[in-house]
Amino acid sequence: MLCCGRKIKIEAAFASEPIWCSVCKSNIPIDDIPIKQELIQELQEWNRAFSVWLVDYKFKSTEEYFELETRHNQWGNELTERIKKELGHAFFIVFAPSNLSLYMYG
Ligand SMILES: [Zn+2]
Repeated sequence: MLCCGRKIKIEAAFASEPIWCSVCKSNIPIDDIPIKQELIQELQEWNRAFSVWLVDYKFKSTEEYFELETRHNQWGNELTERIKKELGHAFFIVFAPSNLSLYMYG
């Protein structure tokens, strides 16, 4: 059912959904993941926030950018843990944090 199997990666993306196949890197439609609607909505909210905070955001300072990225990654990590709990051991799930700041300031 799921692309190459049950290995998925949660990674925010600009203009696409934040769930990926860990094997072939294809984007996976969020509705293909059997998690409750409430969690899907929060995942989409988190993904939208990524675009606003880190892609489109006109930041004032490097510190502010790093702070927003840290918040984004904490939130994403927390969402990933909740998705893991809901899907159980049938799926292998990893979280890929944003490292845009490395490209911008590194
Ligand atoms: Zn795949």
